Amino acid sequence: MVTTLRVPAAGAHDDGYDVLVGRGVLADLPRLLVERCAAHVYAVITDSRVAELHARRVTTLLEQAGLAARLFVFPAGEWNKVRATWGELCDQLLGAHVGRDGAVVAVGGGVVGDLAGFVAATLHRGIPVVQVPTTTLAMIDASVGGKTGLDVPAGKNLVGAFHPPRFVLSDVDTITTLPRNQIAAGLAEAIKHGIIADAAYAEAVASAATACLARSPDILEPIVTRGIAIKVQVVAADPEERGRRQILNFGHTIGHAVEARSGFGLLHGEAVAIGMATEAWLAEEIGIASAGTRKAVLDLLAAYDLPCTVPNTLAPDQLLETMLHDKKVRAGAVRFALPTTIGRMAQSTDGAWTVDVPSAQIVRAIEANR
Ligand code: NAD
Repeated sequence: MVTTLRVPAAGAHDDGYDVLVGRGVLADLPRLLVERCAAHVYAVITDSRVAELHARRVTTLLEQAGLAARLFVFPAGEWNKVRATWGELCDQLLGAHVGRDGAVVAVGGGVVGDLAGFVAATLHRGIPVVQVPTTTLAMIDASVGGKTGLDVPAGKNLVGAFHPPRFVLSDVDTITTLPRNQIAAGLAEAIKHGIIADAAYAEAVASAATACLARSPDILEPIVTRGIAIKVQVVAADPEERGRRQILNFGHTIGHAVEARSGFGLLHGEAVAIGMATEAWLAEEIGIASAGTRKAVLDLLAAYDLPCTVPNTLAPDQLLETMLHDKKVRAGAVRFALPTTIGRMAQSTDGAWTVDVPSAQIVRAIEANR
């Protein structure tokens, strides 16, 4: 069964797009490309790991359907989501004569989606992209919302563009080849979606931990589908992150800093788990969250054995410095999206969905959560 979730148009250059999710839906890709993203040639961009597991098969599927397809592979790993890889991919696509009438098909995790999306956003000043996510994290989070970009020395995702896909095709069967820690890291974002918008979903994700970690596609399918639906709802209401979409950043202000400073020793979802645990402490400490919220967050994360404490090797002042480079900084103050309880996020009296937190308080939160 295919579930179709619609992300409405965000502006003059965007018609809106569908997110199609289900088991075995990859077989429909050639037909969907012809109907929704006709192109002279399809540049299938992937990483070295996904190339062998799924992307070669995708390229063959397209060729068998009579479509011109070329495969472009870069080395797997977050540390490759950088300008050098973007530059190499652009040169390779240009060398292969992918012109303005070409399109990019991003097959892989969030790293592939962000990088291939940014190649598509910039090549010939923008060619279409189709997202085919293959990790829980990329399905539930990264492939929806149109954000593309790169990591730079100053921080994660600081160079990028909004470039919404023509459509997103999430085949839940592809995630059955993911290692257990990657499943858990992706479902950290599912737990986050529950904390920010749907307490019952957060509970359901935690209760299904054993089956999800055993990669049961029948259990993963509804969990992934509801996770995508929450992201779609939030993005649809605020496509350019001017207001409520900021709630998706819960756990990410501290999480991004931990991820960047850990030298990629932690997965993105693991760093976000640490960020959520620490930011939940902060929310209780400054009186935004009701008592017991942090404990509830820790219990949800424990179901997946996700890390909840900031590694001792990371100094609070260094983390703070990284946070001050973050996109979420306004007028020198670090802003946080914080829960009031599980399922509900705080909105300040001026209508903003983030709050300024003084640096000293952030350092206290990090020290209390080591
Ligand atoms: P990833 O893309 O690095 O994938 C994790 C690992 O799993 C990689 O080694 C990859 O090769 C491998 N892999 C992918 N699919 C597989 C499969 N089906 N079977 C086996 N192995 C597979 O990481 P991720 O966790 O998917 O994404 C993290 C990235 O997403 C970060 O860079 C983060 O900043 C970004 N992100 C972006 C957004 C957004 O809105 N654009 C949102 C959240 C996260």
